Amino acid sequence: MFDLVAQIGRNLADLHGRIAAAAARSGRRAEDVRLVVVSKSVGPAEIRAVVAAGAADLGENRPQQLWERAETLADLPIRWHLIGHLQRNKLRRTLPCVHYIHAVDSLRLALAIDEEAARRAAASPPAARRPTAVLIEVNVSAEPAKHGFAPAEVEPLLPRLAELRNLEVHGLMCMAGLGGGLEAARRQFAALRTLGDRLRRNAPPGIALGELSMGMSGDFEVAIEEGATMVRIGSAVFEGVGIGD
Ligand SMILES: *Cc1c(COP(=O)(O)O)cnc(C)c1O
Repeated sequence: MFDLVAQIGRNLADLHGRIAAAAARSGRRAEDVRLVVVSKSVGPAEIRAVVAAGAADLGENRPQQLWERAETLADLPIRWHLIGHLQRNKLRRTLPCVHYIHAVDSLRLALAIDEEAARRAAASPPAARRPTAVLIEVNVSAEPAKHGFAPAEVEPLLPRLAELRNLEVHGLMCMAGLGGGLEAARRQFAALRTLGDRLRRNAPPGIALGELSMGMSGDFEVAIEEGATMVRIGSAVFEGVGIGD
């Protein structure tokens, strides 16, 4: 019989090896790069298998699917990451299930997250209160169809974000453009890292820019070589399990 956990376990082990090698090439340790397993194109059985194989951070790009899965799989110790676009009217249901929001792409969204997080904090015991961790999405490829701030828009935004008590900026996120192949992707990842390095020097108190969420199945090694601290990988984790390939 086909052993889902074993197949996914082999894929994960292979990925961890490649992540460690790419981290070493950038002078870092494997632990410096967090793997977020993107589960958007598999079902609950595959998610249970990947958790059994050791994954703890899972990502979904659609808020509604994230809620449904967080509910169906509430018995599992999963930290859910929302990696796709978030509409403000989806916040109320998203915040209770999410560990990290990767794609804050407008000031209006940041303000709305802060407001909803404040509302939730007021209704929780002090020990359970924590600010919502977010990343700022930057459109490094300048493709009009992509979400995210233009690189030059990020710096003027930081003082506003620093005022928000219930939202905590941890870093930047990007997706490489569709064209141009790996070398174009590398330039875009390097541009995100350079932006983070530059802004970090003068960042207002309370704004951390240490995290860089960049790299997917096709380009994560390049992203790690350029400084990624989180990679979002879907299809390579589930290769050979008969879904989405
Ligand atoms: C789907 C998706 C990924 C993962 O893509 P794969 O090519 O399957 O690894 C990463 N990031 C975002 C924002 C996605 O939507």
